[in-house]
Formats: sequence, structure tokens, C-alpha cells
Amino acid sequence: MEDRIKIANLPTRIIRLDRFSKEVGKNVYIKRDDETGIEISGNKIRKLEFSVKEALENNCDYLITCGGIQSNHARATAAVAAKLGLGSYLVLRGHEGEELEGNLFLDKLLGVKIRFVTKDEYRYKRLEIMKEIKKSLEEKGHKGYIIPEGASNGVGSLGYVKAMKEILDQEKNMGIKFDAIVVTVGSGGTYAGLYYGNRINGNLATIYGFNICDTREHFQEVVLNLLDEISIYTGKKIDVTKDEIDIIDGYPGLGYALSRPEEIEFIHHFAQLEGIILDPVYTGKAMYGLAEEIKKGSFDKHENILFIHTGGVFGWNREQRGLL
Ligand SMILES: *Cc1c(COP(=O)(O)O)cnc(C)c1O
Repeated sequence: MEDRIKIANLPTRIIRLDRFSKEVGKNVYIKRDDETGIEISGNKIRKLEFSVKEALENNCDYLITCGGIQSNHARATAAVAAKLGLGSYLVLRGHEGEELEGNLFLDKLLGVKIRFVTKDEYRYKRLEIMKEIKKSLEEKGHKGYIIPEGASNGVGSLGYVKAMKEILDQEKNMGIKFDAIVVTVGSGGTYAGLYYGNRINGNLATIYGFNICDTREHFQEVVLNLLDEISIYTGKKIDVTKDEIDIIDGYPGLGYALSRPEEIEFIHHFAQLEGIILDPVYTGKAMYGLAEEIKKGSFDKHENILFIHTGGVFGWNREQRGLL
């Protein structure tokens, strides 16, 4: 299970959100996975510790991956590749000449190669395109390793199986029990890893995911598949049905990476309460969702809620900033 490279800044802190807790009338804590690093910050690095280990074991010298134009995952991959002396090739949904800011700017500084693709190419052909890139690299004597979107596959999700163990150790030290763990769902690997880790350790917390794109139905399927893939690596299957996957829908808003004024207003409010910056694409929507659901009573049966801050601060773009 410890088949990983050690590159993330772990364990990450868990702190109580005193002022936010008072406001919503619940004990809410936050795990600062946005502090796993700077260039490698966020949840993706936990997954990459395992994926990149597999790449190195296979003697690969190029990491190939994909994401949106402002992908946190792509940026983290680029930074890890640079650190290890590997090449990196990103397939990004967007076009050349897009404003050079946030993660895209960092990608360029980190020296990646980029293939820009259209929405449809990304949706239907990204794996094919990554395989083509792998093939063309082979012709130049390189060996590429393909990491899927968000590193959300069996091996990547092991990063959050391990994170769950970290949370259980921290609970012991803190003398607290979290009965609800809340995370954003974008490609599902973070949720799946936590869910698997929760079950395999016999822990009884409920794992909640707020999807920021697609639907509850879609992610229940995705997570079930990922749980199967994880068990290939661990050798232990868990017994789970679709209805047990607690995805709370209703907060994608205008869709992936698109923000509504009320979401930005919430992030602004939260920043002033806690001195913590959420991102507009993932954690801002999920924390907004959590606050709304607490108001509605959906968390009444829970005592101590742990929210995972999965990072994303470099994802802000001009349009989102303009809503402030
Ligand atoms: C990718 C990402 C997520 C979603 O994690 P998945 O494992 O893809 O579901 C959440 N927050 C941030 C900041 C991310 O970059």
C-alpha cells in the first residue's frame, strides 16, 4: 500500500472553523489539503504520489495527462514531472492564445508541452489523443505514462485511501470523532478513496460528496467503478451499492468552472470569517452547498463535520474575479 513517492507536505492540518461553526450552528472543521505544497498544492498530489510511482516503476520518462484549461491536476503533474526530471505533456480543453493566467501560466513556467483541444475532442477523444501523443513520443525514444483526468483511477485513488488513515490518526490525537466527512466531487477519485478507506478501516463516518458538474447518478456510477478499481490494487473488495454513495446534487450552478454571483459572494464572506480562500470551481461551490444544506437540516444528525479543502487557489480567472 505504501507504493508511493513522498513529495506532498503531509500530514495536512485539521483546524476548527470557529466563526463559521458559530454562524451555521455546527462543529465544522477543515482539513487543509490545499497546503500539501505550493506548486503541487491540492488534492491531486496525494493521487500523483501513487500514479507517478507506477510510472517510474515502468521506466517512463514522460507524464501525459489532461484537464480543463485551468486544471489544478495538470499543473500539479507538471510540477512533479519537473521535480523528477520527467517530461510532461498536457491535453487541455481550450485554445492557444487563451489568457495566460493562473494554472495555465504556471504550466508554461514549468515547461510543459501542451495540446489544446476543443470541448468535443476533450469529451469524446481525450484518451485517444493521449495515446497518440504517447505513440509519437515513443517514435522519439521516450516512454510516456498516461494519467487519466484528475488521476481518478484505481492507483490514483489510493492517495485518498491513505488520507483517510491520516484522518483517523488525527482524530485520535485530537480526541474527536468526525461523523461526517465532506468533499468536492469533480472526477470522483478523492471521494472514492475516502469512501474505501472509511469502510476498510471499519469507520462509521458518512462520506458526503458535492458534485460540481454532472449529476448525482453519474458520480454514483463513477465511484462504484473506482471502488472496484481500487480493490484490484489492494486485493480487498468492499460490499457497496449505488444508494450508499452519498452525493449531494444541486450545486454545479452554471456548470463546470462557471460561477454565479452568490457563489463568489459566499467565498468572499467565508474568507472574511476564517481567513481561508476557497476556489471558485470546486471548494467554493461545495462549502456553499454545505452551508445551504446545514440550513435545510440535512446535517442535523451529525455532530462534527470535516470538510476537506482540496485546493485550487490558482484556478481563479478574470471572469470570476470580476464577480467580486
Ligand atoms: C480536482 C479537484 C477536486 C475534485 O477531486 P476529484 O478527485 O477529481 O473528484 C476538488 N477540488 C479541487 C481544488 C480540485 O482541483
